[in-house]
Amino acid sequence: MVDGRSIPPTTYLLPATFQRVPELPEVETIVRDIRPQLLGRRLISARLWHDDVLRGVSRRSLLAGLRGNRIRNVFRRAKHAVLETETRRLVVQPGMTGSLLVLDQPPTARDKAYAVLTAELDNGRSLLFHDVRRFGTLLWLDPRGWDAYSGAIGPEPLDPGFTPAVLRKLLARSASPVKKVLMDQRALAGVGNIYAQEALFAAGVDPSKPAKAVSAPAARRLHRELVRILRAAIASEGTTVRDYRTGTGKSGSFQFELLVYDREGEPCVRCGTSLAGTHAIDARITVFCHRCQT
Ligand SMILES: [Zn+2]
Repeated sequence: MVDGRSIPPTTYLLPATFQRVPELPEVETIVRDIRPQLLGRRLISARLWHDDVLRGVSRRSLLAGLRGNRIRNVFRRAKHAVLETETRRLVVQPGMTGSLLVLDQPPTARDKAYAVLTAELDNGRSLLFHDVRRFGTLLWLDPRGWDAYSGAIGPEPLDPGFTPAVLRKLLARSASPVKKVLMDQRALAGVGNIYAQEALFAAGVDPSKPAKAVSAPAARRLHRELVRILRAAIASEGTTVRDYRTGTGKSGSFQFELLVYDREGEPCVRCGTSLAGTHAIDARITVFCHRCQT
């Protein structure tokens, strides 16, 4: 048995290529949906249905910690939803098939089918984290553990402090493909496969270009497009490719605005050239226009 203090929390940070959807806009949407319903609420009871999502905490200490605790804040960091209680922070990474919901009533048998964590709130509502294939993870971090964990993640792209100069600097220190750097959570928070491809296309930057070879004007465009696309995706409540649902159980709608993701072989919306796909950058397919992206 281990608890939050016995393992350095930074070891839970997965390599960039294993980070899956949902990305920043999806987790932000979930957090905005559930936040008003959770703020100030006390957790009357909690039940964990599967242990394999736990990282660095035992079932016993998590449940003992949650029961009777009050939720002081709910926010997003990178691709995690963070429920801050009076003692520790519950860090939920929903994973590809996970969702986080507040239900008006106790969970039904159907809700429980893929439940990972359920908790009853002091107003009769319940919190449900369900995850069909359990790619998600749960952490239960004390303030020191949280600081270490969050400190190992790069800046938030939607924070005012994330300027074109900040992006330029983090690109300049790496010879890896620029797409990989954008997706590396240690460099930049919350960006994954979908939004990296879209931002690179919008900015006209070749995804396999070494990050440090990206020119200053191109880095400025990339900054502008990344921020614009992440904001637009939040406004559309995220991208539902398959399983992602908002914090109220709906689908997002940004999938209708994707211009390159999953569109290999389709004509480029700008120049009509057939979009190319490559596996060379990371384990997954990256789609781009070889004429518009240089
Ligand atoms: Zn093109």
